[in-house]
Amino acid sequence: MRCQCSDPGCPVGHGSRECGKRASATLYRVDMDDETGTDFCDECADDAMESGVFTDEDDEDDEEVEDNPPSDAMLALYVATNNDTNGNPRRGWIIVGRDGSFVGFVDEGYRGTGALKHAGVDDLPKTGRLEVTPGEYRALKRELSY
Ligand SMILES: [Zn+2]
Ligand SMILES: [Zn+2]
Repeated sequence: MRCQCSDPGCPVGHGSRECGKRASATLYRVDMDDETGTDFCDECADDAMESGVFTDEDDEDDEEVEDNPPSDAMLALYVATNNDTNGNPRRGWIIVGRDGSFVGFVDEGYRGTGALKHAGVDDLPKTGRLEVTPGEYRALKRELSY
């Protein structure tokens, strides 16, 4: 494959023509859904990466994780409170993002970890059970459920 870089500002100096040197890497646009990628030679790749417009990671599973579940989900924090007045369990998982923020909530119901699977986050590490108050539980469920 040949370098497809045609950036006129590229320091390699091929102007607005395609560089055409032997390509060694395929990079992907970060600002759009780029499935095919663009081939770059070493030098052009350096410049393309530095510009911040390209990445060398192909986000294959981008589509699945875009909205649901949150793509930065890192941990499932198991929380529980006493059963509600009808005897229904109130247990679930707070989905914690990479920056430590709460990005979602999955109510366990009667499904056990099947609820996590249903929400698409069953591969997250899970913590032990943390007791919360019924009020906290309701708030978590109301504000973070997806
Ligand atoms: Zn090049
Ligand atoms: Zn170039």
